[in-house]
Amino acid sequence: MGIRTVEQYKESLKDGRRVYISGEKVADITKHPILGITCDTIGAGYELTASKNPDVKNLFVAPHPETGEPINRLFITPKGPEDLANRTKIIQRSIQLTGGLPFGKDIGTDCLNAAFVVAGQMGKKEYQENAKNFLEHLRANDLHTCGAVSCVKGDRSKEPARQKHPDYYLRVVDRNKEGIIVKGAKIHITSAPAANEIIVVPTRQMRENEGDYAVSFAIPANTEGVTFICRGGRGPWSNREFHPDRPVRELTEAMIVFDNVFVPWERVFMCGEWQFSMLLAYTFATFHRFTAISYKVPSVEVMAGCAVAMAKYNGLEKVGHIRDKLADIAAYVETLRALANAAAQNPVMYGEIAVPNPLIANMAKLHFAGKYHEFIKLIQDIAGGIIATSPDRRDWDNPDIHDYLEHYLGGSEKYSTLERMQMIHETMRHVCSHESAFHEVTTVHAEGSMAAQKMMILAESPLAQYETMAKVAAGILPPASF
Ligand SMILES: Cc1cc2nc3c(=O)[nH]c(=O)nc-3n(C[C@H](O)[C@H](O)[C@H](O)COP(=O)(O)OP(=O)(O)OC[C@H]3O[C@@H](n4cnc5c(N)ncnc54)[C@H](O)[C@@H]3O)c2cc1C
Repeated sequence: MGIRTVEQYKESLKDGRRVYISGEKVADITKHPILGITCDTIGAGYELTASKNPDVKNLFVAPHPETGEPINRLFITPKGPEDLANRTKIIQRSIQLTGGLPFGKDIGTDCLNAAFVVAGQMGKKEYQENAKNFLEHLRANDLHTCGAVSCVKGDRSKEPARQKHPDYYLRVVDRNKEGIIVKGAKIHITSAPAANEIIVVPTRQMRENEGDYAVSFAIPANTEGVTFICRGGRGPWSNREFHPDRPVRELTEAMIVFDNVFVPWERVFMCGEWQFSMLLAYTFATFHRFTAISYKVPSVEVMAGCAVAMAKYNGLEKVGHIRDKLADIAAYVETLRALANAAAQNPVMYGEIAVPNPLIANMAKLHFAGKYHEFIKLIQDIAGGIIATSPDRRDWDNPDIHDYLEHYLGGSEKYSTLERMQMIHETMRHVCSHESAFHEVTTVHAEGSMAAQKMMILAESPLAQYETMAKVAAGILPPASF
């Protein structure tokens, strides 16, 4: 098949999967008012690969490296900077074209690319074969994958084997000639209820006595014993909003419970090799933070645009302190863009596979997360209190009060009141809403907490070299001869 239509994708979700949301079991997620939005968001990715515009099609569809058959370009395992830069382009263009992120293959391939690297490092032919065959299955059937990494973790101060419940981290509870049985729960998994395949990767480094927790595999979403418990989302736009014509884009996260789930050996990428669990978690995190910084760029560009536009609607674009804040806003966005590009341009090679530069990818994610709330504060400051108290679309549409709004909520006379109201509401979405609070937390935690990024920055930075240079400068060590 190679490339599926959006209809084929949606039809594939009617496969008997067990999905719950707000206490209700959902028979057909494509028709559900919240989960249907997730299906549409993912579905937009299938519309892009079906595009009649050759520029769009050629970006999202690539020839299979061996057969030349058309496949989704995210299924190309990166071999160098160009392939990594293409991943960024795909992510950024899909947001621009569809208004959301059709996160249908990104996280899954972050997991699978990491599994390839680690299978190669382990020198285990069977895992390499399994990963390769699974990739071919994804390519041939154009499947949506989610990446299930975060375990529920229980008491964070305790390792997996010391927890009150041994399955607070997902683990192997039995194995036989045909495969393994796993038990546990993964949490916060983006777009999981609408995935065809779940790819599981360990959430952290495991120790010698934690071999059962060092497990990685892929299974179909309708596998017996798998249950999705989803976050209740916001649903469609209400008639209070000023942007009802654009589709809502949302990717519902879910907790995935694995209740004694059977995984055949041919779907296993790691089982017991605890010494390699760190490399798998670490390589996944690098790929995934690179994906993250790629999709964050267009999101913060739109937010920065709200600040620029609000400054103009308020007639303040030439005022000194506003320009100073706009400079900080632009520096935040452009530093992120520059770091994302640099991570692609300076990969670390594992055999033939190009992994985004881990130091730069982590610096970029830390820059994004560490300064995000400050960035939001600048936009809130420029926009004014109206983003907290604005009348809504229904007020605007009520003839009894419309003229008061039209008259009193105007700003700079260069622009209409309606335009200013539309921008106020767009800005509200990004910095003063239920949705923006969700994104503030997502920024801090999704793709790992800031402590996780600092840990990787410390591991990757040339600290010894800094120290030597300081000691040479202080006269403690002799200067290098030349
Ligand atoms: C919107 C969203 C989407 C997500 N999508 C996915 C996804 O698709 N797939 C996936 O696998 N995950 C996903 N995640 C999960 C994300 O990776 C985690 O939220 C993140 O790794 C933090 O883990 P946690 O939420 O369990 O927080 P916690 O681990 O509870 O962290 C809370 C704080 O405690 C600190 N901490 C935790 N443990 C320790 C320790 N042992 N020692 C010292 N400090 C510690 C952390 O650094 C942090 O500061 C998503 C998260 C969000 C919010």
